[in-house]
Amino acid sequence: MESASSLATKTLEAHERLNEYYGVQDVYGRADPMHELVGTILSHRTTHDNEVTAYRTMRERFPTWEQVRDAPLTELIDAIKTANYPEVKAPYIQNLLAHLFRETGKANVDFLADLSTEDAMKWLTDLPGIGLKTATLLLLFNFRKPVLPVDTHVFRVTQRLGLIGPKVSAEKAHGLLLAYLPQDATALFNFHKHFYWHGQRVCTWYYPKCGECVLRSMCDFYESGRTTVLSSTPSRKQSR
Ligand code: SF4
Repeated sequence: MESASSLATKTLEAHERLNEYYGVQDVYGRADPMHELVGTILSHRTTHDNEVTAYRTMRERFPTWEQVRDAPLTELIDAIKTANYPEVKAPYIQNLLAHLFRETGKANVDFLADLSTEDAMKWLTDLPGIGLKTATLLLLFNFRKPVLPVDTHVFRVTQRLGLIGPKVSAEKAHGLLLAYLPQDATALFNFHKHFYWHGQRVCTWYYPKCGECVLRSMCDFYESGRTTVLSSTPSRKQSR
């Protein structure tokens, strides 16, 4: 088993390689934090286009957040039906809005900018339907807090590289990877974005394109030659 310091070194090396490969970006997010928050709920297990359509249709039918909160549940479900699991997401959104209005008198989370990272994380994850991933996406993208969203792509690629163990949960991966990285929003944003893109474009679930991967020489999955998932590069060992 690798030590924490060698895993930290390996994580930083992977971070540097992807910085070079994809280029370093400035932190960006949707202008309105409420859009980011509700949009992230809609985005779970949904394509970006379907999430955008669901959000747009919802705001067209219910232009104010009070209207979204008070809409008949079946109508809200219908408005967001392009997002998968609308029957789960609609009550989440209404519960979230009801909580926000009750606690703060409005649907606005701009005050999170003034809270410490820990307090902002706690406040968000105490909300109904808001998990670690949604909270970290909002805090990093909109408020530049030093947190690390670990979605399915970041999780898969970091696990294949061996930066996190095979039995580590996505929730736990957040803290483990964060400890290896600079506590800086720009660095964490780029780590998240680059691993997300890499998982979408190169290290895909069924057909990882190991032959064109800049992380290949440091990848445990590649090194093992495992074929537990379908691979377009069955002769990975020979093609190095
Ligand atoms: S070498 Fe293959 S398995 Fe490893 S990170 Fe790259 S694409 Fe993924």
